[in-house]
Amino acid sequence: PELFLPERPNSRGFDLAHTPTLDSIDAARDAFRAHHWYARPLLAEEAAPEADETIANPARPQDRPGAVAPASATDVELALAAASPWLAAPDERAKVLNLAADLYEAHHGELFALLAREAGKSLPDAIAELREAVDFLRYYAANIPDAAPSGTFTCISPWNFPLAIFTGQISAALATGNAVLAKPASQTPLIAHRAVQLMHEAGVPREALQLLPGGPAVGAALTSDPRVSGVAFTGSTATALKIRAAMAENLKPGTPLIAETGGLNAMIVDSTALPEQAVQSIIESAFQSAGQRCSALRCLYLQDDVAHDVLTMLKGAMDALRVGDPWPISTDCGPVIDEQARQAIADHVAQARAENRVLKELSTPPEGTFIAPTLIEIPGIQALEREIFGPVLHVARFKAHEIDKVIADINATGYGLTFGLHTRIDDRVQHVTEAIHAGNIYVNRNQIGAIVGSQPFGGEGLSGTGPKAGGPNYMARFCAPDRQNSQE
Ligand code: GLU
Repeated sequence: PELFLPERPNSRGFDLAHTPTLDSIDAARDAFRAHHWYARPLLAEEAAPEADETIANPARPQDRPGAVAPASATDVELALAAASPWLAAPDERAKVLNLAADLYEAHHGELFALLAREAGKSLPDAIAELREAVDFLRYYAANIPDAAPSGTFTCISPWNFPLAIFTGQISAALATGNAVLAKPASQTPLIAHRAVQLMHEAGVPREALQLLPGGPAVGAALTSDPRVSGVAFTGSTATALKIRAAMAENLKPGTPLIAETGGLNAMIVDSTALPEQAVQSIIESAFQSAGQRCSALRCLYLQDDVAHDVLTMLKGAMDALRVGDPWPISTDCGPVIDEQARQAIADHVAQARAENRVLKELSTPPEGTFIAPTLIEIPGIQALEREIFGPVLHVARFKAHEIDKVIADINATGYGLTFGLHTRIDDRVQHVTEAIHAGNIYVNRNQIGAIVGSQPFGGEGLSGTGPKAGGPNYMARFCAPDRQNSQE
C-alpha cells in the first residue's frame, strides 16, 4: 500500500520531563486557577441570553469554573437563518485555521486550566488534547479539497474531548467552506465557547461559525431542520441512531451523517507477549483519561498460561496509579464527568462485586465524581451488555486453541472501533489483524491516542460511519454530495 505522508507539521506539544517547560505551564495555568468563565450562544448577531446554569468541577464540587446560558429556540432559529457558508478562497481559509491553531497554543495555560476544571482532565491528557486540536486545524488547513461548499453543517461533539473533537469536526467543516452550527456537549460548554472565541479572533466569520450550547433539545432542532445540509456527530451509538432517524424524516435524502460512536474494545495478550510491555499498554489503554475514551480498552483477553503472571503485574501497576484532582501533575486518573456517569459505572461495579468478580479495586477520593480503577473478571466479551465508559477493565481468559472463538466473539459485538494485540508471533499478527473487524488496530502498544494525519481514527459497524477523522477522506464528506465520489 501507498505510504500516506501528511504535508503538515504535527504540534510539538510540551515536554513534561523538562522542568522549565513544566514550570512555565504551571505559571500559565495558575492564572486561571480561580477564573470564572461564561459561555453563551455565539451567533452572527449578538444574542440576549435568557438563563444561566452553573458548571461544577467534577473533581471538586465547591469549585465553580463558570456558568452557561443555553441556546433558546429563538437562538437556534436566528442561527439557522444567519448561517452562511465561508466563501473565502481555500488559501485564505487555511491561513485563518492555521492562525487559530497558533492562538490555541498561545492560550495553552487557560485551555489546560479549563480542561482540568470543567472536564476533569489530567495535565498530560490536557496537553495531548490541545495537541490533537491543533493538529486537526493544521491538518485540515493543509488538505483542503478542491470542491464547492455544501452549505450548513451541524457539529455535535462529546464532553470527553471537549477541545479536540469539537475543533476537529468544526475545522473540517470550515476548511471545506461550510457554515457551522456547533453544539458542544452540555457538560463542557465553557471550553467550546473559548475555542469559538479564538476561532473568531483568528478570522473565521461569525456567520460561518455559530455556537449553540445546550442539551438534547438544541441537538434535535439542529438535526431536523431542512436548512441543514450535513451533520457531524461524536457520541453514543443510541444518540447517533436517533439523529439518523430525525435526518431521514426531515432532511434531504443523502444528507451526510458523519458519526463516530461507541465501542467495546478488546485486546488479546498471548503467551508470547512481553508482559512488561503488555501491562504498560493495558494500564494506559484502560485507565488513561479515566477510561473515558471511546478508544479505551474494555475487555482484555489473557491466554491462560500467562494470565496469573500478567494479572499479578497488572495489579501491582494499578497500585501505583494516583487517583484524584487532575490539577497536580502527579495525578494519573481524574474523575468521571458527572454524577450520572459515576452512578451508572458504580452500579456496574456493585453488581460485579455482588457476584464476586472484582479482582482489584482502588479507593476513591472522599469527594468529586470518582470511580477508582477497577478490574473485573468475566467469562468473555459477550457478558458485557453495554460500553462502561470509565476506568473499569474486564478480563477474560482463553486457551491457545480458542483464539478464533475469541476473535469471533469480539466481532459478534457488532462494534469495531479499536483493537489491541500483544504477541511475538508474526503469523499471528497477520491472522488476527486480518480477522478482527475494527477501525484502528494496534500491535504491541497501547490502543488509545491516535495521531492526526498518521493514524486516522474511526470505526466500523456500530462504532461509526467512517471516513476516519484526521485522515485523507474525512473532508470529502463535508463537500457537496455531487463532488463526493471523485473525492473518496
Ligand atoms: N481519538 C481518541 C483516541 O485515539 C479517542 C476519541 C474518543 O474517545 O472519541 O484515543
